[in-house]
Amino acid sequence: MPKDASKSDYTHMGIASINPSTGETLKSFEELSPDQINEKLQRASETFRTYRRTSFESRTAMMTRAAELLESEKHELGKIMTLEMGKPLKAAISEAEKCAWVCRYYADTAAKHLADQIVETNATKSYVRFQPLGPVLAVMPWNFPFWQVFRFAAPALMAGNVGLLKHASNVPQCALAIENMFLRAGFPEGAFQTLLVGSNAVESILKDSRVVAVTLTGSEPAGRSVASIAGNQIKKTVLELGGSDPFIVMPSADLDKAVDTAVKARTINNGQSCIAAKRFIIASSIYEEFTSKFVSAMKALRIGDPMLESTDIGPLATPQILEDLVGQVQKAIDSGARVLTGGHKLEQPGNFYEPTVLDNLDPSSPVSCEETFGPVATLFRFSNIDEAIALANVTSFGLGAAAWTNDSEEQLRFIDELEAGSVFINGMVASDPRLPFGGIKHSGYGRELSEFGIREFVNIKTVWIGASQGTASGGSANNAE
Ligand code: NAP
Repeated sequence: MPKDASKSDYTHMGIASINPSTGETLKSFEELSPDQINEKLQRASETFRTYRRTSFESRTAMMTRAAELLESEKHELGKIMTLEMGKPLKAAISEAEKCAWVCRYYADTAAKHLADQIVETNATKSYVRFQPLGPVLAVMPWNFPFWQVFRFAAPALMAGNVGLLKHASNVPQCALAIENMFLRAGFPEGAFQTLLVGSNAVESILKDSRVVAVTLTGSEPAGRSVASIAGNQIKKTVLELGGSDPFIVMPSADLDKAVDTAVKARTINNGQSCIAAKRFIIASSIYEEFTSKFVSAMKALRIGDPMLESTDIGPLATPQILEDLVGQVQKAIDSGARVLTGGHKLEQPGNFYEPTVLDNLDPSSPVSCEETFGPVATLFRFSNIDEAIALANVTSFGLGAAAWTNDSEEQLRFIDELEAGSVFINGMVASDPRLPFGGIKHSGYGRELSEFGIREFVNIKTVWIGASQGTASGGSANNAE
């Protein structure tokens, strides 16, 4: 239950909305007790028994209603996001719109993606049927506080699963608003529930037999911890973890377009995106020109109140993220990096950090390969494509990668050789409901979005009917049992 909270400083622990622009505690929340968690898990389990039998038509109607609510309430929802985690309001509003898109995408395509697939064998009839698994736990981060949740929830609910959301502790109002939206869209109580709990409660929830699977979007340590618990319990996992995406620019690229996109790709969401371009790998012959244009564009960004239309970069979500970034930049400088612009936090209330560009780093040093969550770009130069690919692949992450070149042979080499879950040529890495999203290496495994995402949390059941069984196959809905 929410309780009123007066102004406090950043030392507040627990589940709370703390405005990252001011440090003011807006609202704090009691964590659920073990009994309350038990009630919610029981409700999820009971709801699943009936919800799994609902038709695609009825799920589509509810999911479409959720999309309509997101669209009609995008300004209010955007405001909650901005107040809790600091992204510019205009980006928060777009995020609500994108959530509506993923709801509509799965409302329209789930029946097709999960239709029975006939396979010719020696049986009278054999086919593959996709059936929901049950209550799925979603451990989610604060950086896209609506999008991360909806890209899990829309396919999971359309497939007939029920969802349990353990959201990041700094975005409780977003978490409650999402739960409330699914209820208002007509989903039964228990189909999607928010659990206001800290990360220390995840282990026991995951060990509960009523929870059948888990998806985690977050940092590598959180992923390791959750995957090891789930592995021990033999429960399905999807992990969407961090990234240190390369952004390669070859001499044939359209330089101005590459620079514009590079700035956006690094600073989107105040620099706190898993698929933000973090390492800029530039051909020596265009290095000086790229760098000069890139640094000017980074300097021109307006940093400030994220509620203002004119703001490009708001505060980082928490003081800890700010301190981590300060430490990473300092470590880079200590090991020889050159600061081309920025390099400091702003000496004012809130978690503001200047847009920063560093070069002259050792590409294989830990600080070059770590994920930087904030508006800090690192530049590297190369003299041939082999070197560019080697530099891009040096990190232990493998989420996204962008390469800019107008040479088709070079494009093919990047597509084949970059170690990442996605490669964008002459563009910025971005998610799209129609395309699979996910990583390799330490960026995780499994896929979200598209037909691949909706098949992560289903039982892919083989059905084989012998001659004496007649043709007792069901319809095409996964719930037609
Ligand atoms: P985080 O600290 O890992 O937190 C993410 C979620 O995991 C939160 O709900 C957090 O709960 C929970 N959590 C943390 N440690 C846990 C543990 N040991 N056991 C169980 N749950 C745990 O990550 P973050 O700082 O919020 O988010 C930023 C990270 O997410 C970055 O690394 C970013 O790249 C990654 N990310 C990846 C994707 C992707 O699609 N690949 C998308 C967005 C973000 P509390 O808040 O209560 O601690």
